[in-house]
Amino acid sequence: MDLVLFGIQGSGKGTQAQRLCRELGYYLFEAGGELRAIAASGTELGETVKSYIDVGKLVPFAIIMQVVREAIVAQPPDQRILFDGIPRDEDQMRAFDAIMQDVGRAFRCIQILLDEAEAVQRILGRAAEQGRADDADETIIRKRMDTFRSKTLPVIQAYAQQGKLSEVDGSGGMDEVYERITHTVNAFT
Ligand code: AMP
Repeated sequence: MDLVLFGIQGSGKGTQAQRLCRELGYYLFEAGGELRAIAASGTELGETVKSYIDVGKLVPFAIIMQVVREAIVAQPPDQRILFDGIPRDEDQMRAFDAIMQDVGRAFRCIQILLDEAEAVQRILGRAAEQGRADDADETIIRKRMDTFRSKTLPVIQAYAQQGKLSEVDGSGGMDEVYERITHTVNAFT
Protein backbone atom coordinates (compact mmCIF):
# COMPACT_ATOMS: atom_id res chain seq x y z
CA MET A 1 0.00 0.00 0.00
CA ASP A 2 1.43 3.36 -1.07
CA LEU A 3 1.07 6.49 1.02
CA VAL A 4 0.26 10.07 0.10
CA LEU A 5 1.23 12.54 2.79
CA PHE A 6 -0.58 15.89 3.02
CA GLY A 7 0.07 18.84 5.27
CA ILE A 8 0.34 22.59 5.06
CA GLN A 9 3.83 24.03 4.49
CA GLY A 10 5.61 23.87 7.84
CA SER A 11 3.56 20.94 9.15
CA GLY A 12 6.68 18.79 9.28
CA LYS A 13 5.55 16.73 6.29
CA GLY A 14 8.95 16.63 4.55
CA THR A 15 10.82 15.59 7.68
CA GLN A 16 8.28 12.91 8.52
CA ALA A 17 8.32 11.65 4.93
CA GLN A 18 12.10 11.19 5.01
CA ARG A 19 12.00 9.30 8.27
CA LEU A 20 9.13 7.08 7.10
CA CYS A 21 11.19 6.18 4.04
CA ARG A 22 14.31 5.47 6.06
CA GLU A 23 12.61 3.35 8.68
CA LEU A 24 9.74 1.73 6.79
CA GLY A 25 11.39 1.33 3.38
CA TYR A 26 9.18 3.50 1.22
CA TYR A 27 10.62 5.00 -1.97
CA LEU A 28 10.27 8.78 -1.56
CA PHE A 29 8.75 10.88 -4.31
CA GLU A 30 9.07 14.46 -3.13
CA ALA A 31 7.43 16.72 -5.72
CA GLY A 32 9.04 19.97 -4.49
CA GLY A 33 12.50 18.36 -4.32
CA GLU A 34 12.19 16.85 -7.81
CA LEU A 35 11.11 20.23 -9.18
CA ARG A 36 13.88 22.12 -7.36
CA ALA A 37 16.41 19.73 -8.93
CA ILE A 38 14.98 20.46 -12.39
CA ALA A 39 15.01 24.20 -11.62
CA ALA A 40 18.72 23.95 -10.79
CA SER A 41 19.58 21.99 -13.93
CA GLY A 42 20.36 25.06 -16.04
CA THR A 43 18.06 23.93 -18.87
CA GLU A 44 15.21 25.85 -20.47
CA LEU A 45 12.75 23.58 -18.68
CA GLY A 46 14.61 24.39 -15.46
CA GLU A 47 14.16 28.12 -16.03
CA THR A 48 10.44 27.63 -16.56
CA VAL A 49 10.09 25.53 -13.40
CA LYS A 50 12.14 28.03 -11.40
CA SER A 51 9.91 30.93 -12.47
CA TYR A 52 6.95 29.23 -10.76
CA ILE A 53 8.76 28.05 -7.64
CA ASP A 54 10.20 31.53 -7.09
CA VAL A 55 6.76 33.06 -6.77
CA GLY A 56 5.14 30.16 -4.88
CA LYS A 57 2.86 29.09 -7.74
CA LEU A 58 2.18 25.54 -8.87
CA VAL A 59 4.40 24.40 -11.72
CA PRO A 60 2.34 23.56 -14.88
CA PHE A 61 0.37 20.32 -14.84
CA ALA A 62 2.13 18.67 -17.81
CA ILE A 63 5.58 19.11 -16.24
CA ILE A 64 4.84 17.71 -12.79
CA MET A 65 2.66 14.88 -14.11
CA GLN A 66 5.38 13.68 -16.46
CA VAL A 67 7.90 13.70 -13.61
CA VAL A 68 5.65 11.73 -11.29
CA ARG A 69 4.54 9.26 -13.96
CA GLU A 70 8.17 8.42 -14.77
CA ALA A 71 8.97 7.93 -11.11
CA ILE A 72 5.98 5.65 -10.56
CA VAL A 73 6.56 3.37 -13.53
CA ALA A 74 10.25 3.06 -12.60
CA GLN A 75 9.37 1.39 -9.28
CA PRO A 76 8.88 -2.37 -9.07
CA PRO A 77 5.36 -3.37 -7.91
CA ASP A 78 6.56 -4.58 -4.50
CA GLN A 79 8.34 -1.27 -3.71
CA ARG A 80 6.02 0.92 -1.67
CA ILE A 81 6.05 4.62 -2.61
CA LEU A 82 5.51 7.62 -0.36
CA PHE A 83 4.24 10.70 -2.21
CA ASP A 84 5.05 14.06 -0.66
CA GLY A 85 3.67 17.15 -2.40
CA ILE A 86 1.41 15.54 -4.98
CA PRO A 87 -1.46 15.68 -5.90
CA ARG A 88 -1.72 19.42 -5.20
CA ASP A 89 -4.95 20.27 -7.02
CA GLU A 90 -7.96 18.49 -8.46
CA ASP A 91 -6.54 18.17 -11.99
CA GLN A 92 -3.43 16.53 -10.58
CA MET A 93 -5.64 14.30 -8.42
CA ARG A 94 -7.58 13.00 -11.41
CA ALA A 95 -4.38 12.35 -13.38
CA PHE A 96 -2.63 10.80 -10.37
CA ASP A 97 -5.57 8.48 -9.66
CA ALA A 98 -5.57 7.41 -13.31
CA ILE A 99 -1.84 6.62 -13.32
CA MET A 100 -2.10 4.68 -10.06
CA GLN A 101 -5.05 2.72 -11.38
CA ASP A 102 -3.24 2.02 -14.66
CA VAL A 103 -0.24 0.54 -12.91
CA GLY A 104 -2.37 -1.23 -10.29
CA ARG A 105 -1.07 0.59 -7.20
CA ALA A 106 -3.31 1.14 -4.16
CA PHE A 107 -2.76 4.06 -1.76
CA ARG A 108 -4.00 5.66 1.41
CA CYS A 109 -3.58 9.29 2.52
CA ILE A 110 -2.55 10.94 5.76
CA GLN A 111 -3.00 14.63 6.51
CA ILE A 112 -0.74 16.15 9.16
CA LEU A 113 -2.83 18.84 10.86
CA LEU A 114 -1.18 22.02 12.12
CA ASP A 115 -2.36 25.49 13.00
CA GLU A 116 -1.33 27.99 10.30
CA ALA A 117 0.32 30.53 12.62
CA GLU A 118 2.54 27.80 14.07
CA ALA A 119 3.32 26.55 10.56
CA VAL A 120 4.56 29.99 9.45
CA GLN A 121 6.86 30.22 12.46
CA ARG A 122 8.31 26.79 11.73
CA ILE A 123 8.98 27.66 8.07
CA LEU A 124 10.76 30.90 8.89
CA GLY A 125 13.01 28.89 11.23
CA ARG A 126 13.69 26.30 8.54
CA ALA A 127 14.60 28.98 5.94
CA ALA A 128 17.45 30.15 8.13
CA GLU A 129 18.78 26.57 8.37
CA GLN A 130 18.38 25.45 4.75
CA GLY A 131 18.78 28.68 2.77
CA ARG A 132 15.64 28.15 0.67
CA ALA A 133 14.57 31.44 -0.93
CA ASP A 134 10.89 30.46 -1.19
CA ASP A 135 10.89 29.77 2.57
CA ALA A 136 12.52 33.03 3.63
CA ASP A 137 9.93 35.46 2.31
CA GLU A 138 6.71 35.60 4.30
CA THR A 139 4.73 36.84 1.26
CA ILE A 140 5.72 33.75 -0.74
CA ILE A 141 4.99 31.47 2.22
CA ARG A 142 1.50 33.00 2.51
CA LYS A 143 1.01 32.53 -1.23
CA ARG A 144 1.94 28.83 -0.96
CA MET A 145 -0.41 28.46 1.98
CA ASP A 146 -3.22 30.15 0.00
CA THR A 147 -2.61 27.63 -2.77
CA PHE A 148 -2.78 24.82 -0.20
CA ARG A 149 -6.08 26.10 1.14
CA SER A 150 -7.76 26.83 -2.17
CA LYS A 151 -6.39 23.97 -4.29
CA THR A 152 -5.07 21.15 -2.12
CA LEU A 153 -7.73 21.09 0.62
CA PRO A 154 -10.43 20.11 -1.91
CA VAL A 155 -8.23 17.16 -2.92
CA ILE A 156 -7.87 16.10 0.72
CA GLN A 157 -11.63 16.41 1.18
CA ALA A 158 -12.27 14.27 -1.89
CA TYR A 159 -9.99 11.52 -0.57
CA ALA A 160 -11.71 11.79 2.81
CA GLN A 161 -15.05 11.19 1.12
CA GLN A 162 -13.62 8.13 -0.59
CA GLY A 163 -12.56 6.80 2.83
CA LYS A 164 -8.87 7.00 1.93
CA LEU A 165 -7.83 9.69 4.44
CA SER A 166 -6.59 9.57 8.02
CA GLU A 167 -5.77 12.71 10.00
CA VAL A 168 -2.83 13.01 12.37
CA ASP A 169 -2.23 15.78 14.90
CA GLY A 170 0.97 17.59 13.82
CA SER A 171 1.52 19.54 17.02
CA GLY A 172 4.24 18.68 19.52
CA GLY A 173 7.67 17.17 18.93
CA MET A 174 8.79 15.39 15.76
CA ASP A 175 9.07 12.02 17.49
CA GLU A 176 5.57 12.33 18.85
CA VAL A 177 4.14 13.13 15.42
CA TYR A 178 6.14 10.27 13.88
CA GLU A 179 4.64 7.88 16.44
CA ARG A 180 1.14 9.00 15.51
CA ILE A 181 1.86 8.54 11.80
CA THR A 182 3.39 5.06 12.13
CA HIS A 183 0.48 4.02 14.34
CA THR A 184 -1.87 5.08 11.53
CA VAL A 185 0.24 3.44 8.80
CA ASN A 186 0.34 0.16 10.71
CA ALA A 187 -3.43 0.16 10.85
CA PHE A 188 -3.54 0.27 7.00
CA THR A 189 -1.84 -3.04 6.35
P1 AMP B 1 7.22 22.26 -1.53
O1 AMP B 1 8.65 21.93 -1.29
O2 AMP B 1 6.34 21.04 -1.56
O3 AMP B 1 6.68 23.33 -0.65
O4 AMP B 1 7.14 22.82 -3.02
C1 AMP B 1 7.89 23.94 -3.40
C2 AMP B 1 7.39 24.49 -4.73
O5 AMP B 1 7.50 23.49 -5.75
C3 AMP B 1 5.91 24.88 -4.74
O6 AMP B 1 5.69 26.18 -4.24
C4 AMP B 1 5.59 24.78 -6.23
O7 AMP B 1 6.08 25.89 -6.94
C5 AMP B 1 6.38 23.56 -6.64
N1 AMP B 1 5.60 22.30 -6.49
C6 AMP B 1 5.76 21.33 -5.56
N2 AMP B 1 4.89 20.32 -5.75
C7 AMP B 1 4.16 20.65 -6.84
C8 AMP B 1 3.09 20.02 -7.55
N3 AMP B 1 2.58 18.84 -7.17
N4 AMP B 1 2.57 20.69 -8.62
C9 AMP B 1 3.06 21.85 -9.03
N5 AMP B 1 4.05 22.50 -8.40
C10 AMP B 1 4.61 21.93 -7.32
